[in-house]
Amino acid sequence: MLTFPYRFALTLFAEDGTNAGTALAQCDWEPVHEWTRLNFQRTGELAPELEDESASILPIWETKYGEPYCRGFRVEIARPGREPVGWDFPNTYFKEFAGTVASVFVEQKKLREGEVFTYIVVAHPGATEPPAAAGLRVTNASPGLPMQEGSIETFLARARPEGVIDADDLPVFVSAQVLEQAAAQTRAHKGTETGSILIGKLWRDLSAAEIFIEVTAQIPAEHTSGSNVKLTFTPETWTAVDAALRLRRRGEVYLGYFHSHPVFEWCRSKACTPEAQRKCSLARDFFSADDKAVMRAAFPRAYSIAMVANDTAFDLSFSMFGNRRGITQPRGFYILEDSSHGA
Ligand SMILES: [Zn+2]
Repeated sequence: MLTFPYRFALTLFAEDGTNAGTALAQCDWEPVHEWTRLNFQRTGELAPELEDESASILPIWETKYGEPYCRGFRVEIARPGREPVGWDFPNTYFKEFAGTVASVFVEQKKLREGEVFTYIVVAHPGATEPPAAAGLRVTNASPGLPMQEGSIETFLARARPEGVIDADDLPVFVSAQVLEQAAAQTRAHKGTETGSILIGKLWRDLSAAEIFIEVTAQIPAEHTSGSNVKLTFTPETWTAVDAALRLRRRGEVYLGYFHSHPVFEWCRSKACTPEAQRKCSLARDFFSADDKAVMRAAFPRAYSIAMVANDTAFDLSFSMFGNRRGITQPRGFYILEDSSHGA
């Protein structure tokens, strides 16, 4: 459970330095909580079978000005009979929320449209009601990790990296077969968004003190409704995946989702020149606000991933996204050449 001994607020300043107003920080704290827990489960400082842990969000005071000014916040997780563990996050975590506040202030004429603003973060003691959970469907809601034991070396020996591998990220292995199927599905639905649910295993390597995931299969979301801009999963999709998981009986869990971006179609409808299409920011590592909302609602775990097929006029490539320090960001992964035999 996540508790809030302090109330955080943001004060925004206009370009000329005048105080535009203050708003109570109504952020989504679950992503930082999730990330912090998994981070310490990876290092072995928190038990993987953690059931009912208690965590709190605490201010980190500004070095020079002190309380109530914050230079960040800490997610602290209690450990029975031991010192708590905690991770510090910078004020930049509030950036997205600050943008939301700014647009309200623009409507209220406290800021001008397009004005460059700055913000500071303050915190005052006083419990607040925990924000209502945004989740529509929380898959595997227990914070415990359903892990199997395996050697990461065995996986690395038959894997090749794709994208930029960051040591901070949980290693992700995707079977080459899953990528082939996702590519085939993208081509079969050329011009519209199509998707699937990614399932697989969570592995723990005790000797390497590491946790990693393996995407073993994708269950095409045949009941989804796809247009060229948006894909929605329907209740039938989940029923189909639940049934597949039961039938396969391999201890697999929901890991995330895959969907395609018909970039060439977006570019064609805007009549972009080939040169513009090559430089298009939608062509690679693009994750829309809708994509983030699906991820947050259906796959909120720190190990959850989203895979995107970028179908451009020139090629078909894959991007991967995951929670890095509380924020959904592009990340690298490994392609596994043949399927797992239990490592
Ligand atoms: Zn998308």
